[in-house]
Amino acid sequence: MKNLSERDKKHLWHPLTQHQLHPEMLAITKAKGALLYDEDGNTYVDGIASWYTTMYGHGNPHITKAIAQQMETLDFVMFSGFTHRPAVELSEQLVALLPSNQEKIFFNDNGSTAIEAAIKMAIQYHHNKGDKRDTLIAFENGFHGDTFGAMSASGLSSYNGPFEEFLLKVERIPVPQEDTIDAVLNQLNTILENNACAAFVFEPLVQGAAGMKFHSAKGLDALINKCRENDVLTIADEIMTGFGKTGKNFASDYLQYPPDIICLSKALTAGMFPLSITSCSLEVYEAFLSNEVAKGFFHAHTFSAHPLGCAAALAGIDLLNSNEIVERRAYIEKAHIEFVDQVENHPKVQEVRSKGVILAVDLKLESDRYGSLRDRLYAFFMEQGVNLRPLGNTIYTLPPYVITNEQLAKVYEAIKNALEIV
Ligand SMILES: *Cc1c(COP(=O)(O)O)cnc(C)c1O
Repeated sequence: MKNLSERDKKHLWHPLTQHQLHPEMLAITKAKGALLYDEDGNTYVDGIASWYTTMYGHGNPHITKAIAQQMETLDFVMFSGFTHRPAVELSEQLVALLPSNQEKIFFNDNGSTAIEAAIKMAIQYHHNKGDKRDTLIAFENGFHGDTFGAMSASGLSSYNGPFEEFLLKVERIPVPQEDTIDAVLNQLNTILENNACAAFVFEPLVQGAAGMKFHSAKGLDALINKCRENDVLTIADEIMTGFGKTGKNFASDYLQYPPDIICLSKALTAGMFPLSITSCSLEVYEAFLSNEVAKGFFHAHTFSAHPLGCAAALAGIDLLNSNEIVERRAYIEKAHIEFVDQVENHPKVQEVRSKGVILAVDLKLESDRYGSLRDRLYAFFMEQGVNLRPLGNTIYTLPPYVITNEQLAKVYEAIKNALEIV
């Protein structure tokens, strides 16, 4: 059992890692609540909820129990030709929770495949109506996942480099800020006039991988409305923002015009099981109904609607708006606002912002996405017992809702200390 970090080097290949420069992986042997434990017994506050997933805490007993019970009753069955209670109940719960135009739930197994399904739905929606549309619209610096369709929609070139010429056709617009709405609308208009656009894919209100960058809800509404007028489907990627991160259940809840399609994953299963959904309106769904078999949506993942994932998701939804979690969400939101006040005039701070439980600090320094400043900061945080993964020159935290007041104070302290060493 000893020294997993050493044994790791022999056969493992990690995601987002240049192994020649970064051979060391820290072995985590246990996790509970907001804490990670390494193999030497050190603890780290999970300041980003393990990529925004474990919002109700690691090992949350309400969720682990639901999964264990489900495992004893029905472990797995394929989802074509069969259905099961956890999927049926989850569809009912999600439709009740999502914006009111969302009526149908399609299951996938991770965030990227949720986006992949959404893009294919949009293209086939037009195809089924006898309309060939070959172009997607997406925001600059968006991130939607690492499969080909999702990568195409993503605008972060550090991930896409070698694949650029194999991607789908995408036209990009900047995110709208309060004072740029008309300019972005004009760009969208030009794109709509010159291309056959199938869909507009976006992270609503907060671009996660871009460095927790915010944009205007009013501006996004205007873009969505323009797309509606042109029968261009709108796809909200709520994989990061979903389940309360922005202060409401979904970022789309800030919008006047609901998107046609919504993608969810990450906190969907409270981080305990890989599962995702692509939801859509009846109008989208009905374009696939026909006596012709080929007009159906012939897309499937073996583990679609995995009962264990659905059970975890149902248990997570129980917690999302429970008194205890609502109280914690409000506490974190308020504490973030106070932190913004405290550091916004710091000489090293370019900008600091918060929305819901998301807090981001842009440093007044240039840094490559995976450059040395970022590495130095990451190591500095870990030495202080806090897991934060800066994105370029942006330090951010998106803590699990169950983080204790003391643990949250420790995260803030680590960020303040970092401002003194950069
Ligand atoms: C994580 C993420 C994805 C990709 O999800 P995976 O499960 O990693 O494939 C897509 N979009 C957003 C906004 C994400 O945060």
